[in-house]
Amino acid sequence: MVRSLAMWTKTLSFPARISPNKTEKKDASTVKSPTVTPTPSTNSLAPNCVKNNNDINSLMNETNGNHEFGSHIYPDPDSEKAIMSSVVYCIHHKEGCKWSDELRKLKAHLNTCKHDAIPCTSKCGAQIPRVLMEDHLKYTCPQRRARCEFCNKEFTGHSLENHIGSCSYEPMYCENKCGMKVQRRHLGQHKSTECSKRLLPCRYCSKEFVADTLQSHLVKCGRVPITCPNRCDSSVLAREELEIHLKEECTISVMQCNFKDAGCRFKGPRYSMEKHLEENCQEHLSMMCNVVTKQQHQITSLKSALSRLSLNYSGTLIWKISDFSAKMTEAKNKEGMELVSPPFYTSQYGYKLQASLFPNGNGAGEDSHISVYIKILPGEYDALLRWPFAHSVSFTIFDQSTCPEKACNIVESFIPDPTWKNFQRPSKEPDSLGFGFPRFVSHEMLRKRHFMKDDTLFIRVKVDPSKIVAV
Ligand SMILES: [Zn+2]
Ligand SMILES: [Zn+2]
Ligand SMILES: [Zn+2]
Ligand SMILES: [Zn+2]
Ligand SMILES: [Zn+2]
Ligand SMILES: [Zn+2]
Ligand SMILES: [Zn+2]
Repeated sequence: MVRSLAMWTKTLSFPARISPNKTEKKDASTVKSPTVTPTPSTNSLAPNCVKNNNDINSLMNETNGNHEFGSHIYPDPDSEKAIMSSVVYCIHHKEGCKWSDELRKLKAHLNTCKHDAIPCTSKCGAQIPRVLMEDHLKYTCPQRRARCEFCNKEFTGHSLENHIGSCSYEPMYCENKCGMKVQRRHLGQHKSTECSKRLLPCRYCSKEFVADTLQSHLVKCGRVPITCPNRCDSSVLAREELEIHLKEECTISVMQCNFKDAGCRFKGPRYSMEKHLEENCQEHLSMMCNVVTKQQHQITSLKSALSRLSLNYSGTLIWKISDFSAKMTEAKNKEGMELVSPPFYTSQYGYKLQASLFPNGNGAGEDSHISVYIKILPGEYDALLRWPFAHSVSFTIFDQSTCPEKACNIVESFIPDPTWKNFQRPSKEPDSLGFGFPRFVSHEMLRKRHFMKDDTLFIRVKVDPSKIVAV
């Protein structure tokens, strides 16, 4: 194969020599390829005569008979001859070529040098050193013939690269991570019918499960059909409905009489229950009567416990009387109309008292005043208390004026007269009599001042055991 030296310089690298600036500064000893080795016969040839590609080109042109150009540089034919006879290494010395001979033989050597690059013999266009050609043709040349290791079809190297990654025979790991390797062409089928990680709907509840967990789901799936363990004549049930079925529907389930809380001990299958209820109507009714009576007692004792809890033991009652106008109107039309307060105690184990108020007055205050009284009611601890009752009692009506400086409450109080019957220990029958002030507040005063606001009065009744003097 005939080549120009320009071709070598294209396909082979002479890194140290391509830049003239670099090489000019260097000593000839650094110019290695081709290496000029001075011999005794070529003493006259300076080692730095061959400096770069141009020099080689010129040299080789001369050897090709291009004397015109070469003769400019080497006008002396003797020098030229001497240079061509100088001994050089092969330009592929570095890659391992051991060839060394006269420069004139270099070109011929390069035509056979196994390190020299030649165009790929399969015409892929690459320049490949001879020594690597076999490998190239076999493994990397795009024009090579190669078989796909999976489908065994033959391809050119280029189309094989396209083929790899889509070969339908290539085994692939399943994307569901089931661990299986399946040929690409079977992958779709694997994923839809075989893969242990594919999603499958439970055929009873229709929820989706990974195939290998479906079995364990079926063991507990609430929609799995089962038959009643009592073998009743109900149709097939879903597992999750069984409990309710046994409790509420199954005709064979043994159940207790609906009146068990009232005391009936009957137990029997559901179908017999109707008959039992029919036949035992009377018994059930009397059981219920007993229950009602018992509950009535409970209610009564709860009520009294509740009233004890809500009782006022402080000795002071703040009595709120709302809708007072209507009560006043009623009192004017109805003689002796009396309002009574909630009972209260003077202390936890003290006297039980109750205030009363006549809106339209009573006795000396009738038709002109509000009258207030205190009554002593029979209390729980009367047996332990001192009689007659001797605590001072005060009544206050609050002035509800928005201006506190102008507000002026009315207060009346008394110390009980021990000779009065009202202050003796009351009998079981509540005493209708009271002690107090028939002319507590005049109706006129009630209108003038702010004792009534939002149609509401506030009256305080205070019992003070320490005070023996009325305030
Ligand atoms: Zn060589
Ligand atoms: Zn090639
Ligand atoms: Zn293939
Ligand atoms: Zn799979
Ligand atoms: Zn299910
Ligand atoms: Zn059943
Ligand atoms: Zn019963």
